Amino acid sequence: MFKKVLIANRGEIALRVIRACRDIGVRSVAVHSTADADALHVRFADEKVCIGPPPARQSYNNIPALISAAEVTGADAVHPGYGFLAENAEFAEVVQKCGLHWIGPQPELMRLMGDKVSARKAMEAAGVPVVPGSPIIETDHQAEEAVERIGLPVIIKATGGGGGRGMKIVENKTRLLAQLASARAEAQAGFNNPAVYLERYIGAPRHIEVQVLGDGSAAIAMGERECSIQRRHQKLIEEAPSVALDDARRVELLRTARKATAAIGYRTVGTLEFLLDEEKHFYFIEMNTRIQVEHTVTEAVFGVDLVREQMRLAAGDPLRLHPDMRPRGHAIEVRINAEDPVTFAPSPGLITALNLPGGPGVRVDTHIYAHYRVPPYYDSLLAKLIVHGENRHVALARLRRALGEVVVEGIKTNVELHKRVIDHPDFIAGRFDTHFLERL
Ligand code: ADP
Repeated sequence: MFKKVLIANRGEIALRVIRACRDIGVRSVAVHSTADADALHVRFADEKVCIGPPPARQSYNNIPALISAAEVTGADAVHPGYGFLAENAEFAEVVQKCGLHWIGPQPELMRLMGDKVSARKAMEAAGVPVVPGSPIIETDHQAEEAVERIGLPVIIKATGGGGGRGMKIVENKTRLLAQLASARAEAQAGFNNPAVYLERYIGAPRHIEVQVLGDGSAAIAMGERECSIQRRHQKLIEEAPSVALDDARRVELLRTARKATAAIGYRTVGTLEFLLDEEKHFYFIEMNTRIQVEHTVTEAVFGVDLVREQMRLAAGDPLRLHPDMRPRGHAIEVRINAEDPVTFAPSPGLITALNLPGGPGVRVDTHIYAHYRVPPYYDSLLAKLIVHGENRHVALARLRRALGEVVVEGIKTNVELHKRVIDHPDFIAGRFDTHFLERL
């Protein structure tokens, strides 16, 4: 196992990795921008290094500063968390070239999966159903031909896209070329890559993803998560297992994901994301080659520390978990964000009073504390509230109880929105799709 891990991240995920390190006796190094000098990950790590000014470009995304921090502290491995450079194959390569271990998959697989078009191709070759779609669209003629074949509506997606941004739904052929041009411009501005492609737009899908682990040859699928409660294509509430799958469909989905992960020789942890249409057919949309925000619901029902497993696999250990592990009970995570509940605009500032919930079946992963000032520079996630119970009904009762105990004063949060969602009869009945919040 590694001796000292540098965590190239901040916020709750940096703390999460520090905790996994401490549990197995590995030292941790926090990095931070000048805006984060008072952050908890800085306080709780064994060592800390300031890597630059507040803008992420100059700190958390600054590869030379991160590598120097690892060298100065004598770290032997780098954990990227999620976001920032977590899916940046170039960073993974630089880490490895500098003689450090990368706590993530092989950089060439990051590159393959980081491009949605090549990821679709690789998954199709591995026998995974993908949403009917096109290769990269170079000409207007290709776009028109693809729409003819796929049928309207289609969704224009950036091959290098992420974070739910840069997608455009085309309902009407007369708007296709104009939307294509603006999608390319936005993709260039947002992802430094203008390449776009088309997919069939699935009207009322559920987002279901599979947690996979691999050691380079064998793989396992550790159940699924349902992440259909989204705003602007970003997840807000996740649960495991999904109520939308019956046993036969679940077995088929997990088997497909496991085989594909093994087929590409994937190492460490990853997630295969699928959309489930109204006829309950599942289609691959993308792979995330890192730990996900919502990994905690899988941890709750499987009783596994996924970050620890990720580190073991990155260190070259073989898979040691049983491929037929079964989930126990039901878990739900809500993301508590510093944002206006109506406009979703970020709401940074000073937290004047704070109470976090506890009790049976409740876990809170957070970096905030009373009198902490939420900086305006980074994403708005304040805390993840995760509940676990023997079934979904018990988990929901615990979630209701726990949300009732949350006090965050001084800034706006989406706590009240979460309360409305979990009291909604359709949510309680498990009747929802990715558009649920738009109708609320
Ligand atoms: P990103 O990488 O930006 O997160 P994804 O490909 O994972 O993008 O898609 C994010 C969300 O966008 C999905 O969960 C779903 O809500 C919506 N979406 C993506 N592709 C489609 C599609 N073909 N049809 C309908 N909705 C889609």
